[in-house]
Amino acid sequence: MAKTYNEKRKFEETPEPKARSFRGDVDVATATPGTTFMIHQHHARRLHYDLRLEFFNGKTPVLVSWAVPKNLPLKTGKPNLAVHVEDHPFDYGSFSGTIPAGNYGAGEVRIFDRGTYEVLEQEPGKLTIRLDGDRMKGVWHLFQTSKGEEKDWLVRLRQLERPDPDPLPPLDPMKATLIDEPFDDDAWIFEPKWDGVRTLAICDIDKTILMSRNGNEVSATYPEFEKLHDRLVCIDAIVDGEIVAMSKGRPSFERLQSRINLQNERDIQRTMKQIPTTFVAFDLLYLDGRSLLKVPIEERKELLDQLVVVNESVQVSTYIPGQGKALYDAACEQRLEGIVAKKLGCPYRPGRRGREWLKVKTVHDAELVVGGWSRGEGSRSTSFGSLLVGAYAEDGLRFVGSVGTGFSEKTIELLMPRLRELETGEMPFVTDPRKSATGSFGKPIRDPHWIRPELVAKVEFRELTSTGKLRAPSFKGLDPSKPPQDCLFSELEILAGVG
Ligand code: MN
Repeated sequence: MAKTYNEKRKFEETPEPKARSFRGDVDVATATPGTTFMIHQHHARRLHYDLRLEFFNGKTPVLVSWAVPKNLPLKTGKPNLAVHVEDHPFDYGSFSGTIPAGNYGAGEVRIFDRGTYEVLEQEPGKLTIRLDGDRMKGVWHLFQTSKGEEKDWLVRLRQLERPDPDPLPPLDPMKATLIDEPFDDDAWIFEPKWDGVRTLAICDIDKTILMSRNGNEVSATYPEFEKLHDRLVCIDAIVDGEIVAMSKGRPSFERLQSRINLQNERDIQRTMKQIPTTFVAFDLLYLDGRSLLKVPIEERKELLDQLVVVNESVQVSTYIPGQGKALYDAACEQRLEGIVAKKLGCPYRPGRRGREWLKVKTVHDAELVVGGWSRGEGSRSTSFGSLLVGAYAEDGLRFVGSVGTGFSEKTIELLMPRLRELETGEMPFVTDPRKSATGSFGKPIRDPHWIRPELVAKVEFRELTSTGKLRAPSFKGLDPSKPPQDCLFSELEILAGVG
């Protein structure tokens, strides 16, 4: 005889409700159906979904339960396995929380769906049900398999009755405008600025696609997020966030460099073990077939908190209302890149840089367009000595400096072929670096080679001179996720406190 619900659990340890009376499991073929159903998402040793249907055991409502590894199918055709397990007490339907390690079914439990249901067919080994939940709407057919054990059932979709989904929003993240000082204001929320690569995760019931901010798919670069959708309590969603590489408790763009530029699958798999990345989610554009673009930021944040079942690799960004200055001070102390202020009530505007999202940086670093390179000396005579970088103003790409430090052997090795590939005879700058500046260490720029302005480099610098040049610039890494035309001279001025 299989163990009952109470026999399997230690109620002094688990927060799950205890069954008050128990008379053995009902016979699904003959028991009187109730009207309530729910589906739990259960992050046990193996993720599965628990379908629970209300039936009556005498006068007591109980939840007849099936563990469904792949959830109820959303397509007709192939059925999914559904293992009939012990009846659960009716109170279990509202349970959401953590079953502590060492206990039966240890792991996170979330309510994936709930609503009403009706039984359309009820026969020995067969049950046809119509679900009317928040997410699951339609008719499913459950049947005992002829092979396998008695507890093995299959569930097949007969007919989906979900409303038509909204069209997907443009896959272009909303941007923040740089300002020079933090502020306090109760009409705003403030969050840390995460120093990594901006990424949209397009999640379906069974797959995740990662898109960089310039519209390239980067799923293969970050295999750790292949199953990001399994960490979300939804049918589908588009999550906005940042992929970061943590180092001593804070994101390190330099550390992320070793991941960003990898192409080869073997290199990626090997490096992933040494430098795992984290997806930090901070916004939600689409959920369960509905576009959230017009929903105010504070509501999107709330939905995001409910959506993500966090673990070490998938996190949700913290944020605080009102206190921008305190968060900025904390960001300085923890050497975070900066903070982002978001205005309460604001919608999500794909691709737009407006005044509803503002960023304040704690460090002088900027993304700049590489327009050329100059020949190196000594050990670097076969490669480049410095990168010639610029930023866009109204008149075009303005040369802002020559970056000669911050490169490791490895980055030089990585960069040189890219520079060769993009070589062109045409100078991309509107101002000639040979006339307007000196190279690294005050030496004139030697033998410049021009490249097509397609690479974006992250550069740290001390200040901007009165003639608009970087003082003491140092290379931090390439940022392939940032479109070159988004590297603005006006941002440099604000960063330097000139504008
Ligand atoms: Mn379970």
